[in-house]
Amino acid sequence: MNCTTCGDKVCRKQQTSCNREGFVKSEIIEQYKDASHSEIIKAAAELVDSGKAGTLSRIEEIIEFAKRMDYQKIGIAYCYGMEQQAKAIETLLTNEWFDVSAVSCSVGGLKQSEVNAASCIHKVSCNPLGQAEQLNAEKVDLTLVVGICMGHDILLNRNLSMDFTTLVVKDRKFNHAPLLGIGK
Ligand code: SF4
Repeated sequence: MNCTTCGDKVCRKQQTSCNREGFVKSEIIEQYKDASHSEIIKAAAELVDSGKAGTLSRIEEIIEFAKRMDYQKIGIAYCYGMEQQAKAIETLLTNEWFDVSAVSCSVGGLKQSEVNAASCIHKVSCNPLGQAEQLNAEKVDLTLVVGICMGHDILLNRNLSMDFTTLVVKDRKFNHAPLLGIGK
C-alpha cells in the first residue's frame, strides 16, 4: 500500500474500503469497542472537539488528556541534556496536582562499556532499559518521552509497561524540530 501516491482516495471520499487493506474492517471496529481503547479515543476526541482544535499546545493537550483519563502519576523519561526542560515540564505537571517521576537517561550510572561492548568511551552511558524499568517500578500511569536519542528511544519504548507519548523529539541539527529537516 502507498497512500501518498493513491489517486482515488476512496477512503476519504466515501468512507469505505478500497480493498487494498491488509486487515478485516469489522475486526478493527470491534477492537475500538474494547474499553481500554475507547476511553483513549474519547479523551483524544475531546481535545479537538467544540472548536478546541489548534488552541492547545502539546503540553496543554497532555495535561487535559491526562485529567480526562484520570491519570494520577506521570513519568518523564528525559535526556540529561534536557534537564532544564524536564524541570519545567515537571513544574507544569505538579502545578496541576499530578504526582511526577522524572527519570534521567543516565539513571544507574552505567559505563559505556557495560552497555556497548564496541565502545571504548569511559563516560557514563545512557541507559534506556534501566530508565524504562525505573518508571515501570514506580507504576506511573503515563510516561512522557523527552529528547531521548534515536535508537535509545526504541529501547525505552519497547520496555515501558505503561502508555507513553513523545513530547520532545531530539533533532540536534534543527533545534528539535524534525519537520525542518524534511524540507516541507
Ligand atoms: S483509498 Fe486505499 S490506497 Fe488510497 S489513500 Fe485510501 S487507504 Fe490508501
